[in-house]
Formats: sequence, C-alpha cells, structure tokens
Amino acid sequence: MELAGQAALVTGGSRGLGRAIAVALAEAGADVAVNYAQRAEAAEQVCAEIEALGRRALAVQADVGNLAQVEAAVERVLQAFGRLDILVNNAGITRDSLLVRMREEDWDTVLTTNLKSIYNCTKTAARHMMKARSGAIVNISSVVGLGGNPGQANYAAAKAGILGFTKTAAKELAPRQVRVNAVAPGFIMSEMTDALPEEVRQAYLARIPLGRFGKPEEVARAVRFLVSPAASYITGVTLVVDGGLSMAM
Ligand code: NAP
Repeated sequence: MELAGQAALVTGGSRGLGRAIAVALAEAGADVAVNYAQRAEAAEQVCAEIEALGRRALAVQADVGNLAQVEAAVERVLQAFGRLDILVNNAGITRDSLLVRMREEDWDTVLTTNLKSIYNCTKTAARHMMKARSGAIVNISSVVGLGGNPGQANYAAAKAGILGFTKTAAKELAPRQVRVNAVAPGFIMSEMTDALPEEVRQAYLARIPLGRFGKPEEVARAVRFLVSPAASYITGVTLVVDGGLSMAM
C-alpha cells in the first residue's frame, strides 16, 4: 500500500468529497484525521469506516477559517499520530448570489472558509513537513476558479486564489521536498450540488462532455494519486477532474 505508515489530515472530511478522500487515503494505508465544523456524528462515522480498514482515525473539530483553532487541531493530530505527512485542504462552502446583490458578510465568509483556510492549514502543517523534509499537500479548488460562474463571484475568487497560492507554496516548499498541488473538480454529486435548483443541474449536465455528474470517489482517486509516491515529481499543478466540463466553459 503506497501510503502505509503515513498520517493525513483531511479538512471537511465528514461529508461529500472530503469523506471520500479520507476513506481513499485510508485504503492506501494512511492513518487519517477527519476535520469537521459541526457534524461530529458524520465525522465519527467516517472514522469508523477508516478504522474498519485497519487504520487509525481521529475526528478533529476546528473552523478552518480560524488560525488558532487550526493550530490546536494540527497539534492534536501530531499527538495522536506522531507525524503529519499529508494535508488535503478540502473544506469549503458556497453563499451564492449575483454580485450586485451579494452581501458583504457572504463575501467575507466564503473567502475566509475557502481561501484563508488554505493559508491557515498549509502554514501550520508545512512547518512540520519542512522539518521532516517530506510531505504532500493537495488543495481542492474548482473549475469555477478557472472559468468563473454567474452568482459565485465570492466562490470563484477564492477558488482562483487557491491556484495562485498552490503554485507559490509549491515553489517555496520544494527545496524541503514538500509537494503542493491542486485538484479542480467539476460538478460532483454532494450536498453542495444537491442544493442547486434542478434547472441549474440540467444546464450543467448538458455541457459535460462525459454526459454525467462526477462521483466523490472519482475526485478522491485523483487526490490519492497526487499525494502518493507515483506523483513524486509533480508539484504546482492543477489536476482538473470534471468530465471535460472546463473545455466547454
Ligand atoms: P459539502 O458536502 O458541503 O461538505 C463540506 C465539508 O466542509 C463538510 O465536511 C463540512 O463540515 C466542512 N466545512 C464547512 N465549513 C467548514 C469550516 N469552517 N471548518 C471546517 N470544516 C468545514 O461539500 P463538497 O461538495 O463535498 O465540497 C468539498 C470541497 O470540494 C469544497 O472545497 C468545494 O468547494 C469543492 N468542490 C466541490 C464541487 C462539487 O461539485 N461538489 C465541485 C468543485 C469543488 P460539517 O459536516 O461539520 O459541516
């Protein structure tokens, strides 16, 4: 198993893409800390799945937008596992509305949870990875960060910001053998996309060359690849997992 003996932290691991990523890393042999914001029960269920695979699991509550909470969470992971080799910055939210109607608090909340979180978690985890002279970080962006999307100026700005952050962190951390990459999913079935109106879902579907929505497991496999030794010479890239959607954007 390619991640045997390694320890991972997946933010927003209690549901959706994060849950699938946490389980995929455990299937590859890693012990996994499952971060969540509110749904402790969901996080515990993911931990039970990971433990059923024979790995260690830890549910860690923390608001990823809050640096002090992130530092405390990373400390708990280090105490539990004794190391931190993999960070997947997955937690994210949407607060959609057209720009002219967008409330300031919806701009601030989305930027804090989706972009400042990447700074909080990467900075905190990177200190330990740099000391260890190894590590892999994957930031979950979105095709919306590549092509924009009406009603999502806040989300698109955060997701595009992640791409610039990823390349800069990749350059800064490369001398210490820490790799940093991004994954940009398209339309993936989760609570986030379940909440969209049916006409929006159908409009997306019509534009996806592969003719279907993606599954969380299909994003998780891309993340698993990027953090594995199979990707040992890959840093600073964005892997698009979207059934071809961004070609049509
Ligand atoms: P989701 O089903 O809504 O799950 C969101 C996860 O993030 C939950 O685990 C939630 O924890 C956690 N979370 C939210 N706010 C948090 C905070 N402040 N601190 C810590 N954790 C927090 O979302 P998803 O669809 O799986 O999306 C996961 C990531 O993929 C996001 O970054 C999203 O932007 C990105 N993405 C998704 C799609 C898609 O089509 N679904 C496409 C492109 C990109 P609780 O359970 O405790 O609330």
